[in-house]
Amino acid sequence: MTDRYAVFGNPISHSKSPRIHALFAAQTHQDMSYEALLAPLDGFAAAVQAFVAAGGKGANVTVPFKEEAFRLASELTPRARAAGAVNTLSFAEDAIRGDNTDGAGLVRDLKANLGCDIAGRRVLLLGAGGAARGVILPLLEERPASLTIANRTEEKAFRLALEFAAHGDALPEACGFPQLAGRAFDLVINATSAGLADSQLPLPPGIFAPRALAYDMVYGRETPFMRQARAAHCRVADGLGMLVEQAAEAFLVWRGIRPATGPVLAALR
Ligand code: NDP
Repeated sequence: MTDRYAVFGNPISHSKSPRIHALFAAQTHQDMSYEALLAPLDGFAAAVQAFVAAGGKGANVTVPFKEEAFRLASELTPRARAAGAVNTLSFAEDAIRGDNTDGAGLVRDLKANLGCDIAGRRVLLLGAGGAARGVILPLLEERPASLTIANRTEEKAFRLALEFAAHGDALPEACGFPQLAGRAFDLVINATSAGLADSQLPLPPGIFAPRALAYDMVYGRETPFMRQARAAHCRVADGLGMLVEQAAEAFLVWRGIRPATGPVLAALR
């Protein structure tokens, strides 16, 4: 019988995950299906439970449910526990296993696909939601010169930085957007969902150092953040590579096989 997988989100119609996993499955000859499912904002757990009851083997979780997925899981991998957020669920007989492959996906995309070293760089992470949480530890493990977390709701950035203060040599700093004035960064990662709504982030001018890489986790559209970075003569990347790399990591968790990502990324581009 074909094994069923899905991605849950709200909104979800923009998701490329079904296509990515179909390409991985074809490449590795796996008998599986993968669909995009819209979960109601107040009905994520019920939607997952219905999928499990219908025979689902595993699921990805996207905005805005990653923290809820963390609470839903009965078992957590160490990287999911550190992230406090889950993007990959595996359903066993009596357990829901939660994992987080976002951080591994981002770091692999930055280093392997974009040739961007993180070690010794000043890194700015915009956002303090599930996606930001998931990438902090893997970024710190790359030993940046500094890691600054900036968020619209400053309080959430402070809480996140405190949680990760014990990890790595570089202590994460936290602030709101206005406090970025006068500072410059070599790598600016946008982990907010502002781009999904075409909203402009109130970033002060000058935050992009010469030859900086501006990375938006949003993919499939030119966001106001990308436009602002291009206007500052930055190298710009969207989150498609991260999406494909985190998907490959999830595929490995579910199927025990790591698919080649290069051909899939090329096909999607
Ligand atoms: P969450 O809902 O958990 O968090 C959203 C974050 O965005 C919060 O920090 C929030 O700030 C901020 N935000 C939202 N709107 C605005 C705005 N108009 N101005 C400023 N800040 C804003 O979402 P996730 O963390 O799960 O996802 C964030 C984004 O990352 C999504 O767009 C998602 O698609 C993308 N993503 C891409 C991946 C990939 O593989 N390419 C993987 C994971 C995520 P506040 O706290 O103030 O509300």
